Amino acid sequence: MFFLASVSAAWTHTATAGEFKRITVTFRFDDYSSCSSTDFEVGLLRIFGKQGIPVTVAVIPYHCTGSTHNPARQKLSPFTAEKAEILVAAIRAGTVEPAVHGYSHQTTRSDMIAEFVGLPLAAQVERISKGKTLLERMLHTTIGTFVPPWNRYDANTVEALEGLGFRTLSCGCRRPPGGTSKLCFVPVTCRLCEVAHAIESARASTELAPLVIAVLHECDFREVNATGDAMDLGDLADLLRWVKSQPDVKTSTIGQMAETNPGLTLARCRDYWRITSGSHPWLPPSVTNDLPYYPSSATLARLKLAHRLEPVVWYGGVFAASFGVAIPFGLVTFWVLPRIACWATCVVWASTVAFTLYAFRDFAICCPGAVAISFLFGTSIALCLCYRTIRKNVEGGEYTIPLVQRAENTASSYQATSMRHEEGIA
Ligand SMILES: [Zn+2]
Repeated sequence: MFFLASVSAAWTHTATAGEFKRITVTFRFDDYSSCSSTDFEVGLLRIFGKQGIPVTVAVIPYHCTGSTHNPARQKLSPFTAEKAEILVAAIRAGTVEPAVHGYSHQTTRSDMIAEFVGLPLAAQVERISKGKTLLERMLHTTIGTFVPPWNRYDANTVEALEGLGFRTLSCGCRRPPGGTSKLCFVPVTCRLCEVAHAIESARASTELAPLVIAVLHECDFREVNATGDAMDLGDLADLLRWVKSQPDVKTSTIGQMAETNPGLTLARCRDYWRITSGSHPWLPPSVTNDLPYYPSSATLARLKLAHRLEPVVWYGGVFAASFGVAIPFGLVTFWVLPRIACWATCVVWASTVAFTLYAFRDFAICCPGAVAISFLFGTSIALCLCYRTIRKNVEGGEYTIPLVQRAENTASSYQATSMRHEEGIA
């Protein structure tokens, strides 16, 4: 009885899962620094404050004064009291959570744009520690969230953050390192202009507690970047008003998200990256990598399995179908028109080899190419089997070269044998 009641309760919970769905949305504003546009940032923070929506602001402690893409030695511009004052007021109002966004946001290498990847542990500890100390002193608060510039970091960054007392690392679409960590990992899932789509996708999913993490930069806005299809602050106000009006959506900072959502592990972050990174053009259309929200570990494991199995089902299905159709067709043709059947087999095999070499010419293959190769191999192998079957049934495997002649002899020999046999019976 108790068992039935439990099952019934579980079923009821599943059936009404939509009622319990809670989508958590976080906004991460990057690159606040002594070099960023103060007027714009004041306007932006005012809009977040007016809607009562918190935002995590990733602050650069010592911005380099030249190009961030130039690894040559540059003068640094430390965070200023004026910029700190704006944030301190917003932190006290509860609308801003500060995060450390690197040290100088200047690449340290010429082969890749990254501040931390490849740096020794001691150098990373020194940079992050200096930045954290400056910001905590100027903002009068402890900071537990780190955002690596360009979302690039490595295992040394993770170790440095753990040693320096950080709790959360917010990253992006870059490959996470291997191993484990006690930090919480909160990857960005969409851009600001994709927030509505991300919320709708999360709502349509079977997830009970999907997370949406949106990143925004000043260059996303027409007030700073006049080119492109950027939004303006009016659009941001409209978007935040819409987000606020959604009954199943709550907003939080990255730190709050990490505190209230268990299981934000490095392994989960890696799985999310595996599923969403790259376009995987060879995957069938049923396997999607459009995941603008952060699902649970269980969903990610299921999607990982689907990424492995669905191509097998798709392309195996095409192979089996073409094989199944070609077998009766091949048997009849080899029987009735052996010369044509042999030539057709040679042409199909030549096409299969040529098309396969062409499809893999740049070691990349798209879904239509994979379908065509599966079809050609299914047909080619079926035709070969037809040839072998006819040959064995007719002459017990004794053949002469060339192939066409053999098939022709096979058919005529079989016909003569059949006639003699029939005459004997008659
Ligand atoms: Zn940045």
